[in-house]
Amino acid sequence: MWNIDRNPSIHPNAPAKLALMSTVIAPATRRFASFNPATGELLREFDCASAEEVQACVASACAAQPAWWDLGVQRRRQILRQFQLLLHEHKSEVARLVTEEAGKPYAESLTAELMVVLDAARFCCETAYAFLRPQPVPHGNLIMKAKCGVLLREPHGVIGIISPWNYPFSTPASETLAALVTGNAVVLKPSELTPLVALKLEKLLHAAGVPRDIFQVVIGDGATGSALVDSAVDKIVFTGSVNTGRRIAQAAAPRFLPLVLELGGKDPTIVLDDADLDTASSGVVWGAFMNAGQTCLSIERCYVHCRVYDRFVEACVAKTRQLRVGNGLDSSTEIGPMIHERQLQTVEAHIKDALARGAKLLCGGTRLPELGPNFYAPTVLTGVTHDMRIMTEETFGPVLPIMPFDTEDEAIHLANDSVYGLAASVWTSNRARGEAIARRLHVGTVMVNDSISAFAISEAPHGGPQHSGIGRTHGRLGMEEMVRVKYLDSDRVPAMKKLWWFGYGPAFSAQMEGFLDFLFARGLIARLQGGLRSLGAIRRKSQL
Ligand code: NAD
Repeated sequence: MWNIDRNPSIHPNAPAKLALMSTVIAPATRRFASFNPATGELLREFDCASAEEVQACVASACAAQPAWWDLGVQRRRQILRQFQLLLHEHKSEVARLVTEEAGKPYAESLTAELMVVLDAARFCCETAYAFLRPQPVPHGNLIMKAKCGVLLREPHGVIGIISPWNYPFSTPASETLAALVTGNAVVLKPSELTPLVALKLEKLLHAAGVPRDIFQVVIGDGATGSALVDSAVDKIVFTGSVNTGRRIAQAAAPRFLPLVLELGGKDPTIVLDDADLDTASSGVVWGAFMNAGQTCLSIERCYVHCRVYDRFVEACVAKTRQLRVGNGLDSSTEIGPMIHERQLQTVEAHIKDALARGAKLLCGGTRLPELGPNFYAPTVLTGVTHDMRIMTEETFGPVLPIMPFDTEDEAIHLANDSVYGLAASVWTSNRARGEAIARRLHVGTVMVNDSISAFAISEAPHGGPQHSGIGRTHGRLGMEEMVRVKYLDSDRVPAMKKLWWFGYGPAFSAQMEGFLDFLFARGLIARLQGGLRSLGAIRRKSQL
């Protein structure tokens, strides 16, 4: 169906640029709504931004970006600092909105969303100046000593950020801050499940002094995200599922559009026989169930040494049974709803498959309709194997499958037996032992005696290999993703013809052989003899 009535209000920055387009025939607008996952209450309806609207946003961002870069890093830092102050003032309001739209407990909105972003702003403000300062590149090769080189870090231009619903504030905001402070403009396409949180981020950034064209939000579904990938952005930073990541990589490949892909995980945890079982069981239960297990860094597989297996399982089940499930706005809630019926169905399918293949359900395993539409009881499974989906595919729900192991080698083999590689954790009272195992795990982050919280360490890079993606966000490595590195080299003796220029011949070849001996021959005498043979090259008569 086609119509000529389009509602440009979906993007506050777009209408002026799109005035002309409203008179031409355009495809029917796609609509969607944001709901409170705890109650099912409709929060707001939206139209999806069209491809033309996305292109217009990117064009205005592109036009505005050079002035943002010219503003200088000190001024951009001041604006980020202002954003940090504003965000702090509005922390309760923003945290409540995150809980309303994403369902997570209010305490987690404060710790895993607000705190992460406030600290990311601190990190960007503290490090951006030194990061963007030209970095000298000393030359070790004697023949190059007359030159001096520096690395320049320059913005890509316009960064397209596409983000998921599970950390609707901290994921896009931390990436945005790194992009902005390094001089880029940003066009953000948030998840269609959590657009209100993104609009709040936009409001705060603009209030802090970020120009409207430098940070823009385009609201919409997957097709809107796809339009952003196809637009004139200079880089895409995507966080989401493996399937979408693959589609984006394919769309970006023909024009070599640079990408960061932060994708899924199936994070393992290893509980060693010397672990403090009370602490480890509390930590594993939190790592598996915080945000109702809907965290890319969630513990999704638990391997426990057989000597402590029974006691550990018993402690996990007892602690899981005590968890308070409910609406995240109730401050005593520990487990909120899942985001969407779709996620519940994935969890149910994985549990059904595990039970059909011989797994044992120790607690949970049911929906909790009396609490609301999307609640699922935290679930502990044993008797699991790597033949089951619950141990190989991302479940992304409140399920903790526990499996015993005999030796460290076996635990490491099981942990590495995955197409993912986002993160892992090890529980032990012996730090050196934990770190030795950590080094053998094929993942981007390993925590010893904790999980997930590395995401809140602004200095720590986030991301992992294999199906978990490409590149990093957060920390210095995340900032590196926001810049193009340019190597600038200047000759200190501009009037001098360089030794290696034309004018080749037998004499020059002999001199160069001598020079290579001078630099690299075995023994002092051979080097000195080489040096003498090479001297004539300095006053070569045959040079052009
Ligand atoms: P998703 O892939 O369904 O959607 C993510 C975003 O991509 C949304 O904004 C969506 O609208 C957009 N999108 C969908 N199709 C698109 C297309 N063809 N082109 C461009 N954009 C498109 O993921 P989700 O369900 O929102 O999030 C859950 C997934 O995200 C999980 O797999 C989780 O592991 C992953 N995740 C990873 C990290 C990480 O840092 N590695 C963090 C959070 C979530």
